[in-house]
Amino acid sequence: MATQTLKRDVVIIGSGPAGLTAAIYSARASLKPLLIDAPPDAEKQTTPGGQLMITTEVENYPGFAKGIQGPELMEEFRKQAERFGTEFLETWIREVDLSERPFTLYGDDLVIKTETLIVASGASAQWLGIPGEAKVPHGFGGNGVSACATCDGPLPAFRNKPLIVVGGGDTAMEEATFLTRYASRVYVVHRRDKLRASKIMQDKAFRNEKIEFIWNTAVEEILGTPEEGVTAVRLRNLHTTAEHTFPISGVFVAIGHKPNTQLFRDQLDMDEKGYLITSGKSTATNIPGVFASGDVQDSVYRQAVTAAGTGCMAAIDAERFLDHLPVAMPSGEEVTIEGEHITPDHEAIITPDGHMIPNKPELVAQED
Ligand SMILES: Cc1cc2nc3c(=O)[nH]c(=O)nc-3n(C[C@H](O)[C@H](O)[C@H](O)COP(=O)(O)OP(=O)(O)OC[C@H]3O[C@@H](n4cnc5c(N)ncnc54)[C@H](O)[C@@H]3O)c2cc1C
Repeated sequence: MATQTLKRDVVIIGSGPAGLTAAIYSARASLKPLLIDAPPDAEKQTTPGGQLMITTEVENYPGFAKGIQGPELMEEFRKQAERFGTEFLETWIREVDLSERPFTLYGDDLVIKTETLIVASGASAQWLGIPGEAKVPHGFGGNGVSACATCDGPLPAFRNKPLIVVGGGDTAMEEATFLTRYASRVYVVHRRDKLRASKIMQDKAFRNEKIEFIWNTAVEEILGTPEEGVTAVRLRNLHTTAEHTFPISGVFVAIGHKPNTQLFRDQLDMDEKGYLITSGKSTATNIPGVFASGDVQDSVYRQAVTAAGTGCMAAIDAERFLDHLPVAMPSGEEVTIEGEHITPDHEAIITPDGHMIPNKPELVAQED
């Protein structure tokens, strides 16, 4: 069977809050975006609609005073993107060639060429892989088990209850400290006898009277009932191998996040954890015409509203780029679709053939 080739001006990878917001903006700008998302796949941890599809109540997305279920919120995003003419395609992008424009994306039995690419492929929380951790109805995920304290900590189910945070890095310390605002007590369960977290984060956690550490210990299983949610965990001491049941009302897994950027390795600049590096003043990556938004370029905030915000920025950046206007690059330069580079001090333009010309309005001779 011949491989189908599609050609577009704007292609977006990912249908989480970032990708769908980029789609809403670029569709309203008449750019006819193509939004690609991966089919559901447990191994690759992909769900059309992104991470919010695996949560229940979202209480902090502005505009929903009474809160909204994660899947319902994403359905609203999707309908809004559809309303303005977004084209949707379900395929796993397995390879990209960003060496020249149009960029080439390789999906299942089809090739997509695009003038601009918005990467919104998100991140995946790392899980322990233990019984009881999976999403409801297979486990207690969304019913007492979470990977996001900022998102779920304030929910009534966790208030004034004893909670466990699993992990020993900065994220675990941050989540434990945050949860002490709501929980009656927070137990940090860590596999070793010392933390990986930075000194300042450790000191803050050690000083917090509501936090207690359970060292050299692994969580083996999460226990509970569908009605009550999580009621206990089975802990194993890794030195003595002794096991015991520990009553608890919630488990926050804080062993890290993995940005979905494997696909872009050796093409897009990334930090040491694999998050894409963007300009800061724009969502531009190191390749002119490729923009990144959402959790894939944000290891700090990781919220639906920040993902949506940068999705909006990416769409506006792509639109500017297609309109032949300069876009700020991570290098500090600004670049146009023709390949002109404006120096960081804005004093000069370097043309695609290497000539440098002043970036000043031409002086018009004044007539007497
Ligand atoms: C359990 C949980 C609860 C949360 N609760 C809240 C909350 O209450 N409030 C809040 O603000 N935030 C919450 N968050 C965080 C929020 O979900 C994320 O910040 C947000 O979803 C990030 O959006 P995104 O668009 O960047 O990426 P994602 O939502 O991660 O979406 C990325 C999409 O890209 C797709 N994709 C990846 N690689 C490929 C590929 N190669 N080809 C095709 N498609 C690909 C994936 O299938 C996925 O659909 C929660 C997160 C979790 C895990």
